Amino acid sequence: MHMEGSLSARDKVGVQDFVLLDSHTSEAAFMDNLRKRFQENLIYTYIGTMLVSVNPYKELELYTQRQMELYQGVNFIELPPHIYAVADNAYRVMCTERNNHFILISGESGSGKTETSKKILQYLAMTCPITEKLQTIRDRLLLSNPVLEAFGNAKTIRNDNSSRFGKYMDVQFDYKGAPAGGHILSYLIEKSRVVHQNPGERNFHIFYQLLEGGEDHLIRWLGLDRNPQTYSYLIQGESAKVSSICDKTNWKLVRRAFTIIEFTEADIEHLFGIVASVLHLGNIKYEEDTHGHAIIKNGSQLQWISKLLGVPVSILQEALTHKKIEARAEEVLSPLNLELAYYARDALAKAIYGRSFNWLVNKINSSLANKEPPKKTVIGLLDIYGFEVFETNSFEQFCINYCNEKLQQLFISMTLKAEQEEYEIEGIEWEPVQYFDNKIICDLIEEKYKGIIAIMDEECLRPGEATDLSFLAKLEEKVGDHPHLLTRKLADPVARKTIDWLDFRLIHYAGEVTYCAVGFLEKNNDLLYRNLKEVVLKSKNYILRDCFHSSELDNRRRPETVTTQFKNSLSSLIEILLLKEPTYIRCIKPNNNKQPGKFEDMIVRHQVKYLGLMEHLRVRRAGFAYRRKYEIFLERYKSLCPQTWPNWAGPAREGVEKLVKYLGYQPNEYKLGRTKLFIRFPRTLFATVDSFEI
Ligand code: ATP
Ligand code: MG
Repeated sequence: MHMEGSLSARDKVGVQDFVLLDSHTSEAAFMDNLRKRFQENLIYTYIGTMLVSVNPYKELELYTQRQMELYQGVNFIELPPHIYAVADNAYRVMCTERNNHFILISGESGSGKTETSKKILQYLAMTCPITEKLQTIRDRLLLSNPVLEAFGNAKTIRNDNSSRFGKYMDVQFDYKGAPAGGHILSYLIEKSRVVHQNPGERNFHIFYQLLEGGEDHLIRWLGLDRNPQTYSYLIQGESAKVSSICDKTNWKLVRRAFTIIEFTEADIEHLFGIVASVLHLGNIKYEEDTHGHAIIKNGSQLQWISKLLGVPVSILQEALTHKKIEARAEEVLSPLNLELAYYARDALAKAIYGRSFNWLVNKINSSLANKEPPKKTVIGLLDIYGFEVFETNSFEQFCINYCNEKLQQLFISMTLKAEQEEYEIEGIEWEPVQYFDNKIICDLIEEKYKGIIAIMDEECLRPGEATDLSFLAKLEEKVGDHPHLLTRKLADPVARKTIDWLDFRLIHYAGEVTYCAVGFLEKNNDLLYRNLKEVVLKSKNYILRDCFHSSELDNRRRPETVTTQFKNSLSSLIEILLLKEPTYIRCIKPNNNKQPGKFEDMIVRHQVKYLGLMEHLRVRRAGFAYRRKYEIFLERYKSLCPQTWPNWAGPAREGVEKLVKYLGYQPNEYKLGRTKLFIRFPRTLFATVDSFEI
């Protein structure tokens, strides 16, 4: 433990809660405190009940068994700030108040969200009371991570282990407070990575793990070569080997996880049959026949795919070189040219990988399902892909950054906005704090009829006519004057023809991003030719068959576009979260080079700004960290005061007033609102009473 209370120690290590800073509203003081602490390896600091974390980029002795024990049941103001403390607090409150919680972990790519979420899960799994019966569930909860990371994370230039999907995991607890089950929701995996990686990046980890670590018989059975250089889907980023990653060890972990999650050998064979088929597909090369039609150059990959997916070679070959069109009641096969054939091949690879990922999540969910009667409470952990900006930003970055906007909006509405509105409703005197509300950007993206997604969808309804350029022109026409959108003026006909002009810029809450619109419509449509769908529906690989549904062949059914699906799933996520008690962890990246110990002021200050930390601090300083409805508070804590125990007959508000006075709170430390009690800095969060009842 650090002696954070004494003055000299305070000079050295700063304060553990920004609320305690003397010059609380100054950004310089905020930065000083954050830097000082970071340099002493104190990567965590509170703003009231919110935790700010700065990625140390080195292993710290912070996550040992002993540390876990230390934080159990201890009021979080009594120990140095820690993710264990906030997790423990959420857990205790859940147990005493029997309500649901979520922990929102946010920050840009590489800031440490996934690490934080894993450590919180470990803390909950390892410290909560558990019966023998539940041990398997606990192990499955923990081991779901390496599996999903293997299939859903990849090296980007921002982060060697970057999440390429969004994840929300409910950890369910039984009435005794034991982790008794779980459920995962996953969001939009970045499928395009399967077929294309930018320089310095990799495909999903699992491919490299399989080649490096896969058992000899498995590799042989899958018809693979151990050398990743053999596979064109693995080497576009030219960084198959990553020094910070040991693919072999990770493979072993994934294998162990499969056993615990109760994958059968057949599941594993079928799943890796699909993974290997993706690699074989990537090596299919086409050439042109005399009519300019694409034909497959070398048959060996086809043989392997046919074996692994359980589809006859002839059908596969036809589907990879032809497009089936339904004209009136007839089906017509039309040969593809080279470009379209490669498009079809890549679309198949992306589709089978993406769908298998969803299958994997479902499989894990069924192994985490709690069969006991309901009445559970949950702590939800949200770990998504962080805001990211690359040199070239595409459809994927647009979706990822949109998702981050939505979470920022949730954060703002649940903290800054809700908090200030509550003071007003409760009649508590309050000096409003100004902040930037990013709702304007969310609306720009998702508004009905004239949001970017709606415009994109509209263009997707005009196949053959609409192009990325016409999409851009429509953007300009409909929202060109929006303060957060910059389009190039497309009036110049010469400029219109050059690809360089195909971009638009969004001023996000976290900074400006220029998106290259090439491929937006195609990715939004996410089309898989009909005959390729038929191939997978005929497959003997049961995972693949499970992933597709025959109704997808129905032409009258128009599937929702990718962004519309994403928008809908995010809005239901937000509905889920709004019903729960929030805890926030804001992760900060200290430098862009993954370097330990380096705190770059400019980079950190930018994040402090856009994360709204100063505003949050101002609201916190002036506000009240604890609040409860009078009735609930009284019922819960009346036993602490002889005047209210065992029964208080008068109005709840008066009872509460007696109670807080009796507890020694001074008049300036609390306020009585219309329906609620507000306490500025709750001293012990009434932990003594709570812990008796757990
Ligand atoms: P993305 O949005 O790209 O998924 P992220 O916020 O999830 O990014 P992480 O993958 O959690 O980022 O962290 C990136 C890397 O930073 C980790 O692989 C690890 O090397 C390092 N790191 C993060 N948190 C810690 C920590 N608490 N201690 C030590 N190293 C850490
Ligand atoms: Mg991550």
